[in-house]
Amino acid sequence: MSLPNPGQTDRTTINRLKKRSVEDRDQMYDILDSTILCHIGYVEDGQPFVLPYGFVRDGDRILLHGSSGARFMRELAKGIPTCVTVTKLDGVVVARTTYDSSMNYRSVVILGKAEEITGPEKNGLLEKLSDGLIPGRVGEVRASTNKELASTTLLSLSLAEASVKVRTGMPEDGEGPGTGVWAGVIPIRVVADQALADEESQSLPVPESVKAFIKNPKA
Ligand SMILES: Cc1cc2nc3c(=O)[nH]c(=O)nc-3n(C[C@H](O)[C@H](O)[C@H](O)COP(=O)(O)OP(=O)(O)OC[C@H]3O[C@@H](n4cnc5c(N)ncnc54)[C@H](O)[C@@H]3O)c2cc1C
Repeated sequence: MSLPNPGQTDRTTINRLKKRSVEDRDQMYDILDSTILCHIGYVEDGQPFVLPYGFVRDGDRILLHGSSGARFMRELAKGIPTCVTVTKLDGVVVARTTYDSSMNYRSVVILGKAEEITGPEKNGLLEKLSDGLIPGRVGEVRASTNKELASTTLLSLSLAEASVKVRTGMPEDGEGPGTGVWAGVIPIRVVADQALADEESQSLPVPESVKAFIKNPKA
């Protein structure tokens, strides 16, 4: 069952430009499903740290994984408060003044405490995570070894407290008409180049998962 729309708590209410706040959970899912990159932040001894990580949405939570030796993973696994941000840059908005210039974007901010997944479901969820990063790849390679699984920390973070902000469209100029200054938008989209085979793979066909990712890149 889906959780209610995002943006429900005091902490996840967008204050500036409320019109850009989106309370449609499906739009949040679309943003989260269109990329594999997030930035995770937490505070340690008063010092904020923000690091990039891969992630995949699994229903009403996101899955994160990393080396069990990584400080970030160890800290998050303790269940400390964290903030995860996902950003899609869709365009540079070139207004008639630098003041009014902006960006078109879709972004999600998630607050909460991560939970470590250690039980029997860990292996299957790690595969789900890997398959979300490069769909179809899990079926093309050998299964992970117990050693690999043991040295990987798997975390989940609920989407219960989250906000979505979206900007689209042309510049909103404070400057009146007739300035003769060009204004508009530079659209930005993610395109994948041809895959480069490593030395050993030169004579091998490009796998289906790689072909599919190139057609529909998530970044
Ligand atoms: C690619 C990109 C570039 C941006 N560049 C600028 C810039 O240069 N200058 C600038 O002033 N602003 C910029 N913004 C907007 C910025 O991210 C904040 O939304 C804004 O500065 C703070 O708004 P606020 O005071 O309402 O939020 P706050 O009161 O600081 O935050 C309250 C809550 O609102 C939610 N929230 C705030 N911002 C976002 C967001 N972007 N996405 C999802 N949830 C959010 C969070 O849940 C947060 O806890 C940019 C956004 C994006 C995505």
